[in-house]
Amino acid sequence: MPELWPMPACGSRHERTFPALALDNAGMESQVSRALDATERAVLDQLLNSEFRGVRELRDQVVDVQVVGRCDCGCPSIHLDASRDHPQAPVADGPAPAELQVTPLADEPVGDVILFVEDGRLSYLEYVYYTDRPPSSWPSQDRLQPFAMSG
Ligand SMILES: [Zn+2]
Repeated sequence: MPELWPMPACGSRHERTFPALALDNAGMESQVSRALDATERAVLDQLLNSEFRGVRELRDQVVDVQVVGRCDCGCPSIHLDASRDHPQAPVADGPAPAELQVTPLADEPVGDVILFVEDGRLSYLEYVYYTDRPPSSWPSQDRLQPFAMSG
């Protein structure tokens, strides 16, 4: 079991900490899940406010996607579970081809917000930060800029 991982960004740790929640609890009704809060919704909307193949399907899923977990490092990254009622997006597993750059405060390094897709569905919204301590909340919207990706 990985404990705290002394790296500036927690990206690689996310995938290790989550599977128990998402995969092994199928059939359990007691799993904690909730709707997106207003901030999460705004960040996700902003990230999906760009054009790429499959973005329409992902936008559809945002409407009733459930938050089923949160990164345990303290950052606001969240695990998502999209309803099977929506069509799958034709997007390969992994980071969606759109992301946001986080304008740094003071002399912080620039951060990113990345959306992971799995099986054509919203899977994980990650705040990639490079500061010493995890941010406790999402950046305000005026600090988020679309970052064009090739492809
Ligand atoms: Zn984290």
